Amino acid sequence: MSVLIVGSTALDSIKTPVAEGHRLLGGSASYAAVAASLFAPVKLVGVVGTDFPKNYILLFKRRAIDLSALEVRPGKTFHWQGEYEPDMNRRRTLKTELGVFETFKPDLPESHRTAKFVLLANIAPALQLHVLEQMRKPRFVAADTMDLWLNTALNDLLKLLRHVDALILNDSEARHLAREINLLKAATKITGLGPKYVIIKKGEHGAILWDGKRPFVAPAYPLRNVVDPTGAGDTFAGALIGYLARARTCLPAAIRRGMIYGSVVASFCCEGLGLERTAVLTRQQIERRFKELKQLANF
Ligand code: AMP
Repeated sequence: MSVLIVGSTALDSIKTPVAEGHRLLGGSASYAAVAASLFAPVKLVGVVGTDFPKNYILLFKRRAIDLSALEVRPGKTFHWQGEYEPDMNRRRTLKTELGVFETFKPDLPESHRTAKFVLLANIAPALQLHVLEQMRKPRFVAADTMDLWLNTALNDLLKLLRHVDALILNDSEARHLAREINLLKAATKITGLGPKYVIIKKGEHGAILWDGKRPFVAPAYPLRNVVDPTGAGDTFAGALIGYLARARTCLPAAIRRGMIYGSVVASFCCEGLGLERTAVLTRQQIERRFKELKQLANF
C-alpha cells in the first residue's frame, strides 16, 4: 500500500559543531519520503523551483519515490538555514525563504487521491488541510507540525486536528498547544482536540505515544556520534507511516512497532549530514539496529 506525503521540499544550509553543508536536499517531506520509501511505495507532493539540482531528483528516483505530484515552478526553491549549538538539541533558524512555496496549492492527480496512508509533514496547516480535503477515505492520516504554526496559524491547525488520526509533535510544542507542562496531561488535552493518537517526540530521549488510555514509550537509539540532527523528526514520522503501509494496518500494536522503526531510521539520519546517511540505508541495517534497540530496552 502506498503512502502519500506532503510537506516542504527544500534546500537546506546547515552548520553543526562537526559538519557544514550548503543547499543540501532537505525539507520535511524530503526527509519523510526517503524514510517511508525504505518500507513502502511513496507519492511525494511538493514544489521546487527551477534551481532545484537534478541530482536530488535522481536521489528520489533511486528510492522509487513517485514524483508526478512534485511541481517544478519558475522561481526559487524553499531555502532554510539553521545553525546548531554545541548541545545539538538547540538550534537557531537563521533564514527561511519560502520561494515557490508562497503560492503553492496542489491539485492532486487522481492516482494520488486514493492513497490509504497519508503523512501531512510539517508545512502550513492550511496547505495540509487543502491536501487532506482531496483524499478519498484514507485509512490513517498523521500530521506533523511546528511551533511556527502554533504561533501564526493556530485556527487552521485546530481545524486540521479534527480530521487527523495522529498528531506528531515535539515536547515543547505539545506543552505550548495544550498550555500544560505535564506531557501526559498535555497529550490527553490534545486528543480532546480531535486526533485519536498523539505522538510526542523528545529528541534523544525518545517518543511517547498516547492512545487515549495509556502511554507507550519508544526509546531513542543511543548514538555516540551525532553529525546533524536536522530532519530526525520528519524521518521518524516517515518511517512510522511507511511501516504502517507495509504492515497494512493502523492498530495500536503496529503504531508502537512503527515508532521503534521511526527511532531506528531517525538515528541513522543523525549520523550523516542532511540525507546522506538515510538515502543509502538498507533494510538489513535497519533490522539489525531494530533488534539491538529491542535488546537495549529489555528488562
Ligand atoms: P526538523 O529537524 O525535524 O525540525 O526538520 C528540519 C527540516 O524542516 C529542514 O529540512 C527544513 O527545510 C524544514 N523546515 C524548516 N522550517 C520549515 C517551515 N517553516 N515549514 C516547513 N518546513 C520547514
